[in-house]
Amino acid sequence: MSSTPSGVALGIDVGGTKVLGVAVDEAGDIVARILEPTPQPPRPDHGASLADVVASVVHRLSEQQGVPLRQTPLGVGLPGMMRRDGILVFAPNLPSASGIDLAALLEPRLGGIRAVVANDADCAALAEHRFGAAAGHDSVVMITLGTGIGGGILIDGQLVRGGSGFAGEVGHMVLDVAGPLCPCGSRGCWERFASGSGLGRLAREAAMAGRLRLVVDAAGGDPEAVRGEHVTGAALDGDPEALALLDEVGWWLARGIANLVCVLDPSCVVVGGGMTDAAGFLVDSARRHLGGLLEAGELRTAVTVLSAFFGADAGAVGAALLAREAS
Ligand SMILES: [Zn+2]
Repeated sequence: MSSTPSGVALGIDVGGTKVLGVAVDEAGDIVARILEPTPQPPRPDHGASLADVVASVVHRLSEQQGVPLRQTPLGVGLPGMMRRDGILVFAPNLPSASGIDLAALLEPRLGGIRAVVANDADCAALAEHRFGAAAGHDSVVMITLGTGIGGGILIDGQLVRGGSGFAGEVGHMVLDVAGPLCPCGSRGCWERFASGSGLGRLAREAAMAGRLRLVVDAAGGDPEAVRGEHVTGAALDGDPEALALLDEVGWWLARGIANLVCVLDPSCVVVGGGMTDAAGFLVDSARRHLGGLLEAGELRTAVTVLSAFFGADAGAVGAALLAREAS
């Protein structure tokens, strides 16, 4: 680990709607944060507007903290398939940035500084392992639930990147070959069932079939207007039908986790991402279902399933830590 004069590292998490920048101290605590909307350029601009926003957040954090950029580790997490050479090959939730080399775009905007770029879920996994829910575990799978499902894997305390850099694209494990179509082109991907969009889809199906009366009321009476947040809101009020639907989604979460456990045998699975209200229900439900879905479940050491410690900040914190460890 490098020692910078201040001990501060900067991390940026680029999401589909928000750019979060944090300054992190040596203990992994956030000492400053800046949130900006992700630019949505009207036409492809090859990442220029995104690089402008990220560079502006970096400069402001550096000035606030009084840390010169040249002596401060800087990491950026991006939402998509990151090749080992730093190209963001495919970013379904940030199409305008697909194909860009963000580190190269940032370099002239940051006075020649080269940022460390990585997949956002890999960053989140690192944060949870170093200072969060998975501290003390050597083999960890991090799952981020949002519009889709992201994944990060650590084996023996090291991030697993894979041959090209694409390891951990867990959301596109196929769980039902005859299932609903996924934007990736396959059918029945895990994220069609156990993500925010999966929850919304299953809820609308249930509503159209005459279930979820209170949830439909909350959505203004139109079954097609039902969203995941309506289900979570009704569940928080104790509606048994909403709770049953979240348990169904929790079963799908456990089903995918069981597949990952078959391959990777982690001692700990951390569930994070943006679905903060629903995540508590889903994690409880997945915990209940997991043992029964595992090969020789009764003979295994129990796999610990935990909610993320850093919540929605994990990607930004992990980007800072990754840069610190790389410097
Ligand atoms: Zn897919």
